[in-house]
Amino acid sequence: MHKIAVYPGSFDPITNGHVDIIKRGQRMFDELIVLIAFNPIKKTLFSVEERLEMIREVIKDCKNVRVDSDDGLLVEYMKREGANVILRGLRALSDFEHEFQLALINRRLNREMETVFLMTGYKWFYISSTIIKEAASLGGSIKGLVPEIVNQKFQEKYHPNEERL
Ligand code: ADP
Repeated sequence: MHKIAVYPGSFDPITNGHVDIIKRGQRMFDELIVLIAFNPIKKTLFSVEERLEMIREVIKDCKNVRVDSDDGLLVEYMKREGANVILRGLRALSDFEHEFQLALINRRLNREMETVFLMTGYKWFYISSTIIKEAASLGGSIKGLVPEIVNQKFQEKYHPNEERL
């Protein structure tokens, strides 16, 4: 059976913690869709187009991974794509309650859908898109915590006039 999983999130922006989950998830399923699940009213730093561009660059060498975006109900998107596994990453205990709620509501909305959790890689335990944005906005270096394309995008946003090598 062809197993398709969806890894949904805001990815505002994608971090090395997300990349770790994608690389490990890619080995578990025949196909993995990284889904930018967006809410048009929610304010984000990067537009959906920018987030798509960054993820596309990150997964360009991964044969069974693709990226997409959707502003609707996750289980409906999955039905359309023939996917029945939701992939999520878990960091600290603080993720657990929210993830538990999401997994339960999604299963209630469609009993065919199962959520699979991968424990974060220890290097990415404290990395979140929020903390990355905060550090970068204050001029801190985020090199090594995000893919290079994301680092460049931050430079363009915060230091648009600096010459880049
Ligand atoms: P959301 O807004 O839906 O939480 P995120 O982009 O913040 O979207 O996260 C998407 C998924 O990736 C979530 O399951 C989250 O727990 C997981 N995730 C985020 N950062 C990390 C990390 N550093 N290590 C492992 N998983 C992570």
